[in-house]
Amino acid sequence: MISREEAINFLKSTSIEEILNKLAQINNKFKRDYITYSKNVFIPLSKWCRNRCGYCIFREDKPSLMKQDKVKEILLKGDKLGCREALFTFGEKVDENEQIKEQLKFMGYDNILEYLYDLEEWTLNNTSLLPHTNCGILNYDELKMLKEVNASMGLMLENASERLMNTIAHKHSPGKHPKLRIEMIENAGKLKIPFTTGLLIGIGETNEEIVDSLFKIKEIHEKYGHIQEVIIQNFRVKRGIPMENYKEPSPIKMLKVIILAKLILDDISIQIPPNLNRETGQLFLLAGVDDWGGISPLTKDYVNPEAEWPEVKELREWTEEVGLKLKMRLPVYDKYISREWLSEKVYNKIIEMGWLKE
Ligand code: SF4
Repeated sequence: MISREEAINFLKSTSIEEILNKLAQINNKFKRDYITYSKNVFIPLSKWCRNRCGYCIFREDKPSLMKQDKVKEILLKGDKLGCREALFTFGEKVDENEQIKEQLKFMGYDNILEYLYDLEEWTLNNTSLLPHTNCGILNYDELKMLKEVNASMGLMLENASERLMNTIAHKHSPGKHPKLRIEMIENAGKLKIPFTTGLLIGIGETNEEIVDSLFKIKEIHEKYGHIQEVIIQNFRVKRGIPMENYKEPSPIKMLKVIILAKLILDDISIQIPPNLNRETGQLFLLAGVDDWGGISPLTKDYVNPEAEWPEVKELREWTEEVGLKLKMRLPVYDKYISREWLSEKVYNKIIEMGWLKE
């Protein structure tokens, strides 16, 4: 629907008319009744990470590992509150840390993924939640193992530019190399794992790099068809991070990127985090946003701890005010609920819970 050159020119342009034309194009082509969201619990299994991104406040030097009892307690509380997604997130390659490795050994595990698998299997067997893992770079075999117990998985591309590896954002983060991330997203496609990825806007990237990243996601999706949603996430300043003096992206910049994401990515759902876009989120719905992402009645957003989740009631008000309805979804989108895309364990769980009639 739009070429690379047109997209770059659009990001550079200051024409209101251009924006209004594209908004009309989107609203004529994509007719939506519902905006979706997922009710989740956020489980930060460990905050140690081998990377040190310039915008990160999640990472800690402490080699912490959340114990089984604590994880289960969160899962059971979340279940009672009606959550359906267990978001397991932790730093990349945490078992490169000797102290974490020791803790895992003490618990009877060789590595963090064995521990994760057990917790996720427990989640499927004992709660009404479905696991979604986002823990940085994983190889083909690791993805294959985790597919067994995950309804979907995720990894932000953030940006496809290798240049950013030499900037404050990613110079201490080997795992943020776009080649590694693209390889993992492609491997997930080969394994037919319903997948979430996204861009981080405002970390020093150029307009060209934003557009190229969107086209890269489109290219991968055209090959494998597995990308269920793309998050357009805005960089937020936090005190104490290396990028604390950087500027956040403006609302118009975000609006334009969302417009382009919708035009380029077509059938992929576009998501914005509602806690990072409290003032602007409603307007972004007009630009083609389909999904508010995960919100939690129980756990905070450990990646953006300063930004409280809105309540479902608020999301509903924001959504209904622009003539749309709010609908809760599972961590796997409806179109991927089939034996083709899900493991036996996860598919059977969904059927058993009556979330999809065969
Ligand atoms: S943003 Fe993610 S990958 Fe980067 S340091 Fe933080 S936890 Fe690690």
